[in-house]
Amino acid sequence: MEASKQAHKAHVLVVPFPGQGHINPMLQFSKRLASKGIKPTLTPTVYIAKSMHTTTIPTLYGPPIQLRPISDGYDDGGKNQAQSTAVYLDSLRVHGPKTLVQLVKKLIEEGDPVKAIIYDGFLPWALDVAKQFGLLGVVFFTQSCSVNSIYYHVQRGLIQLPLQGPGPSTVSVPGAPELQPWEVPSFVGQYGSYPFWFHVVLEQFSNIDQVDWVLCNIFYDMEKEVVDWMAKMWKIRTIGPTVPSYYLDKRLEDDKDYNLQFFKPNTILCKNWLDSKPKHSVIYISFGSAAKLSEEQFEELAQGLKISNQTFLWVVRESEQAKLPKRFIDETSELGLVVSWASQLEVLSHEATCCFVTHCGFNSVLEALCIGVPVVGVPQYTDQGTNAKFMEDVWRVGIRAKIDEKGIVRREEVEKCIREMMGGRKKEEFMMNVAKWKKLAKQAMDEGGSSDKNIDEFVAYLTEC
Ligand code: UDP
Repeated sequence: MEASKQAHKAHVLVVPFPGQGHINPMLQFSKRLASKGIKPTLTPTVYIAKSMHTTTIPTLYGPPIQLRPISDGYDDGGKNQAQSTAVYLDSLRVHGPKTLVQLVKKLIEEGDPVKAIIYDGFLPWALDVAKQFGLLGVVFFTQSCSVNSIYYHVQRGLIQLPLQGPGPSTVSVPGAPELQPWEVPSFVGQYGSYPFWFHVVLEQFSNIDQVDWVLCNIFYDMEKEVVDWMAKMWKIRTIGPTVPSYYLDKRLEDDKDYNLQFFKPNTILCKNWLDSKPKHSVIYISFGSAAKLSEEQFEELAQGLKISNQTFLWVVRESEQAKLPKRFIDETSELGLVVSWASQLEVLSHEATCCFVTHCGFNSVLEALCIGVPVVGVPQYTDQGTNAKFMEDVWRVGIRAKIDEKGIVRREEVEKCIREMMGGRKKEEFMMNVAKWKKLAKQAMDEGGSSDKNIDEFVAYLTEC
């Protein structure tokens, strides 16, 4: 082997599901591994890699992280090129493993073989590839342990579906609070709503008993009892939060943001605008990379913001902007700013930001916890309702907006939640709790902290095996 190839302790493939909320944590975890002497190679899809116009992620603390794509069958357009999400997922299931096998073989030919495949739970076929080559198979969960425990219980037939009997039935899994049907992940709670996603989330557990390690993007204090319960079955370790080091332990010098952004952030515009606002005055609103809101919900949010008369920064993706009420942007130009994408971490950590109205995507909730910003939860689907439940009742860092019988958060409720966040009765409690979680998150990632120790243990295992 060449000298350069011996410089690292082990070479691993990191295989994320092709979604923003999945690539972010797995790339961040790769950076942590790289800082500890492991060589991670990340496998985005061909289309994502092409759109990013880069083949490496440079790091100051070690060699750059290489991107070696695999295919989802839509190399020229990604998921937008597919007829439907269901068709896309089927195609990924066919082309993903085939091209992953080719990549593993290619790396052997290049004299740079991998020891392990660390794969997103949504891609269980990657474990079959790992086993085919005698490699370690490591599953990485980008969602919370409670959410995954519910999927596990359904997959094993321990929770029967549909949930709704004559009355609303609750769900309990070991270590987690009892969940009302609307707090259960929507693919389970609203059985049959997204059959193709239901299949994906359950399939995660089809071969889990063969994995060598289970890694979770949380820190232990967030879901202690659930982790302890899972530890009876699998070699599970908490390694998160995978928020860039700058916002936590600051040990990775250049690690300030997520490098592979699907949308171009309006960073300078947002920063200049926020700089001009007083401390703790701005409501930040974002529904992440995938949620699609109804026109009616847009109308209610927009009117609620107007009534509340507070400054706001609202991320509305380009594909969603036509749903904003006509003239809303003009009419509120004194009060707010609407952008198509932001550097969310910079916005959350800006001193002008007061609270975060979010769909409760798991990364967004983690970021709010780590940066210390109280939350108004407006969950839409998938795991967001469960995350909102934990955010409100377990981590106690905010409130969940109430929906009406049509599932819509009305303008009065938007205004009420904002008022609460601007100085309501519970504001002080939220601020105290976010400060507590921020400290705990940092401690977990600090040298010798729970997640850092777990990463070290994993690195030692990779090195020795
Ligand atoms: N994000 C961002 N800019 C935005 C909105 C979101 O950088 O304007 C990032 C956010 O920081 C998070 C990710 O996109 O890391 C979204 O992941 P999440 O799990 O919250 O939601 P998803 O997009 O998967 O629904």
